[in-house]
Formats: sequence, structure tokens, C-alpha cells
Amino acid sequence: MKKPALSQILPILITTYGDRPWRRRLEPAGELVQTILSQNTSDANSGRAYDSLMKKFGTWDNIAKADISEITDAIRSGGLADAKARYIRSALSALKAENHGFDLEFLRKYSVKEARAWLTRLPGVGMKTASCVLLFSLGMPAFPVDTHVYRVARRLQLIDNRLSVEEAHIELERIVRAEDVYRCHMLIIEHGRKTCRARYPLCNQCTLAALCPSCNSTSR
Ligand code: SF4
Repeated sequence: MKKPALSQILPILITTYGDRPWRRRLEPAGELVQTILSQNTSDANSGRAYDSLMKKFGTWDNIAKADISEITDAIRSGGLADAKARYIRSALSALKAENHGFDLEFLRKYSVKEARAWLTRLPGVGMKTASCVLLFSLGMPAFPVDTHVYRVARRLQLIDNRLSVEEAHIELERIVRAEDVYRCHMLIIEHGRKTCRARYPLCNQCTLAALCPSCNSTSR
């Protein structure tokens, strides 16, 4: 089967799940902390951990100078609390030492490549976390690649199977129009959670089945 074009896939995903226009979730430092908290846990757990952290400390500055054990206690509901507490304090301490402090709005002046390079210098901040900050908080066309995006994009052959997760970020940013990056990211994740699941994808119910080169060829 011929590889489908994103211009064919995106309208079907919008019809299936509804459109997802961009809206800011949190300011950039908040998005950075929230993304670290979301690693290897559910949105509900990381959301609880974020609320608990903010209730206890109130400001980024207070977290940057807090003991790791105090931060760990506040975010325990998010799992991997000790490691996440270290990442969060290290990243916020590094931001505090920068000229701009916790205000990352200046990153809008940069290209995605430059802004991501700036963020990934911070301790504990990888390509996906940096891309989440740029996309969700600053509305820049960075395409975070999580496990759902990586799996679905490969099954649909939007990207080459041999690409690493890091390379997939760059390739998806190349093939998706800047104004569609947010909706495309959100809809592919939703499709991965609800239909194109890691184990036993629901190909027989999938609205992309007629276009998908992997339809009914993957059992897990
Ligand atoms: S047809 Fe199957 S493998 Fe292809 S996108 Fe749909 S659920 Fe995923």
C-alpha cells in the first residue's frame, strides 16, 4: 500500500476526535515542571503532584532553594518522586542563574532548533521535555514525540521505521505545517490511546484503516 500523506490523515483525525486548536496550558517554567512530573505516570497523578508542589512552595524561587526531601514529599503522588525532585530543583536552579530567570518568553525570538538547544542545556531536560515547553506554552512548532506519537507515526509510515525518537522530532517538524503541529500532536496521541494502541490496535474500528500500511498486520 502507498504511504498516506499527512494531508489525508489529519482531516480524518479531526473528524474522528474533533479539532484541537492551540491553547496555552501553563507558562513556560510551569510547563517545564509539569512535563518532568508527567514522565512515566498518568496525567491525573502528575496533575496532583503539580498542584501539591505549588501549594507547598508557591513560587519557582522557593522550589529552587528547597531541600530535595521537601520537594520529594510534595510530589510523591506523581511517582519516581526522588528522581523528579532532583530534576526539578536542578532545572529551576539553572534557570534562576540565567539572565532571564524563570521568564522564558524570550525563547519565542529563536527558531525551534535554537530554543530547544537552549532548553536542553538545563539538567534533566531532554528533547521531548524541551519540545513540550515550546509547543504547549509558547505555541512554537516543536513536535514532542512520546511513545504514542512514535508508534502511530511509524505504523502509518509518516516517518521511517529506522529513525530514532530524537530524529522523529525533526522529521515530524519537517513534514507537518507549522500551524498544524499542535493539533497533529494532540490528535495522534489521542488516536494512539484510543485506537492505535500499543497492544492489540483496534484496526477494525479505525477510521484510518483504508490508508494505513500496517492495518491488521500488527498484533501488539
Ligand atoms: S489501521 Fe491499525 S495500525 Fe493502522 S492506524 Fe489504525 S489502528 Fe493503527
